[in-house]
Amino acid sequence: MNNKIIFNLKIFIFTIAILICNNLYANSRPDWFIPPPLDPTGLELETVEIDEGVFALLSNKPFTDNSGFVVGEDFVLVIDAHFNGEMGNQIISAVKKVTDLPIKYLVNLNAFGDHVFGNYVFPKSTTIIAHEKTIDFLKRNSLQTRKELISVTVGGSIELFEEIVDRFPTVSFQKKMTLDLGNKTIELHYFGPGMSPSDTILYVPVSEVAWTGNLVFGRGSIPWARSETLSDYLETMKNFDLKINPKTIIPGHGKISKGDIIDKYISYLDYVLKLSNSLKKEEVRIEEHVKKINIPSKYSIEEENKGLMEGFHKWNVLNAYKQIE
Ligand SMILES: [Zn+2]
Repeated sequence: MNNKIIFNLKIFIFTIAILICNNLYANSRPDWFIPPPLDPTGLELETVEIDEGVFALLSNKPFTDNSGFVVGEDFVLVIDAHFNGEMGNQIISAVKKVTDLPIKYLVNLNAFGDHVFGNYVFPKSTTIIAHEKTIDFLKRNSLQTRKELISVTVGGSIELFEEIVDRFPTVSFQKKMTLDLGNKTIELHYFGPGMSPSDTILYVPVSEVAWTGNLVFGRGSIPWARSETLSDYLETMKNFDLKINPKTIIPGHGKISKGDIIDKYISYLDYVLKLSNSLKKEEVRIEEHVKKINIPSKYSIEEENKGLMEGFHKWNVLNAYKQIE
């Protein structure tokens, strides 16, 4: 082959690659979709005592990450490490304001950067626990890949994560793990895939409080089936409902909610699955159709998250439709 043909071939391959990438990009990020706004810059966590020794750390910026901690007899357990070292340190300071006890455990509720990037600032003596699929994901994807993946939630730049050093959980669980804190026990549950493959629930039975990470967002939200099928998500929520009955939900994102949000999620997922089935029967052009749909008013939505939730809804219906065999 002469040089000119090789050159043209290169241009051709390059053009095809661009077209494929653009198409993938369009598929994963339609223009109605708003990525969750998770930039922690200027974020302050408010310490709220939910029950004796049980503290929620609630963010003051809509939809950015919440965390929390539980004070045991001899040590403290922290829930989620937040988005970067600065936020991880804010959690450590919040604990110190309440108790001098050491942070023995840190639990990561899923594998996304906004839940694990703060891991590295916790003391060496802190044991980090996560679901086995969370650890799997962290090991399979480079830090750079994971930074890029989550960068859509902070305006596309990875500058915010520059100083982050990887620190992986070293203790894993499959379905359930119980931790004895002396004055109370803590349960870690995996009810199945939902928003992500490894959504973990941390439950404090004596206080009937659950931290739900990304599986259940806060008051006035609907689920977002980001990476798993809607039918799996529904099964997971039914399993959740069967196993534990928290009175209070501290979501990974959004406002504190009552436990009845579990029923709302089940009803909503069931609704979307039925809707997508009937749309499939009508053979609608789904990409066009979802642009026009809204969340039914019975699923009340928190005003500050309206645009975000409408995007989640369109995403859910579109994907439920595509997931029909
Ligand atoms: Zn999150």
